[in-house]
Amino acid sequence: MKIIDLRSDTVTQPTEQMKKAMIEAPLGDDVYGEDPTVNILETKVATLLSKEAAMFTPSCTQSNLIALMSHCQRGDEYIAGQSAHSYLYEAGGGAVLGSIQPQPIIFEDDGSLDLDKVAAVIKPQDVHFANSRLLCLENTMSGKVLSLEYLQQVKAFADKHKLSLHLDGARIFNAAVKLEIDVKEISKNFDTISICLSKGLGAPVGAMIIGNKELINKARAWRKMLGGGMRQAGMLAAAGIYALDHHVERLVDDHSNATFLAEGLANNPSVTVLENPQTNMLFIEANNHDQLVPFLKQKNIILSADPKCRIVTHIDISTDDIYTVINAFNEFYE
Ligand SMILES: *Cc1c(COP(=O)(O)O)cnc(C)c1O
Repeated sequence: MKIIDLRSDTVTQPTEQMKKAMIEAPLGDDVYGEDPTVNILETKVATLLSKEAAMFTPSCTQSNLIALMSHCQRGDEYIAGQSAHSYLYEAGGGAVLGSIQPQPIIFEDDGSLDLDKVAAVIKPQDVHFANSRLLCLENTMSGKVLSLEYLQQVKAFADKHKLSLHLDGARIFNAAVKLEIDVKEISKNFDTISICLSKGLGAPVGAMIIGNKELINKARAWRKMLGGGMRQAGMLAAAGIYALDHHVERLVDDHSNATFLAEGLANNPSVTVLENPQTNMLFIEANNHDQLVPFLKQKNIILSADPKCRIVTHIDISTDDIYTVINAFNEFYE
């Protein structure tokens, strides 16, 4: 029986066609720069995001860390959201491995950072302070999409304050699809972007860091140091190429499934949908959540145990599955 796993868009299985592309990929040693499939992926992604260069990495955590280490030196500072992945969920890598001080500030409700609050934490050039060097945003942020107007303001702000700009764009394609724009419209505002191939795009492994040639050259050295130099990585890169060719436009289905689920659950008086989904994520609070989770598990529906429960739709969740989930909730609360 099918498992309906709603915890994350990282739980997806590669499709048969994706596996075929992986098996058939021509391979070489990518640490020598000789894997043709990795090279195709890197060129493709650089072109898609309208930047000079891109580099394949094992994970978006590593892409973000490499971005921090490539922009900042020991004693520099990066400014990021208090609950940003690159600050909160990456084991403190920037501080531990990069000697880079984080300066977190609280995200606004819409997933943005208030630029007045950012300005207030930029340090003066004085021996007492770390050197504010980099500003990091996240898009989508908990499923929320940053507006293009805001991104333009951020770019002007960063130029004025001489900060570099990094986007944790693990889910940048969800944002682009939602806004019905070319992803370049988002990426052009940033110096570097990380993207994840193994979230909504459905590849089993892999991420990218994208930027100018000089920065990506530095990034290659950091990736090697961090143990991210992979040899015949074209097998994985092929999944990424396949995902970019076939799994971007379909993200719209994940978004409509999330909305459909939110509507279905909102009809249930025992469930509070905290915010209507903009993309593929919704958050709910459900009565007796700790009993709901094992009940659903018996029905092969996997829900996060967190009481402020994040639900994520993805390529392995169909609209029929959404009906199944809504019915299972209703049955539990009958
Ligand atoms: C998942 C995620 C990452 C890290 O990606 P991994 O490939 O799991 O290391 C980074 N940023 C955001 C916003 C994410 O959601």
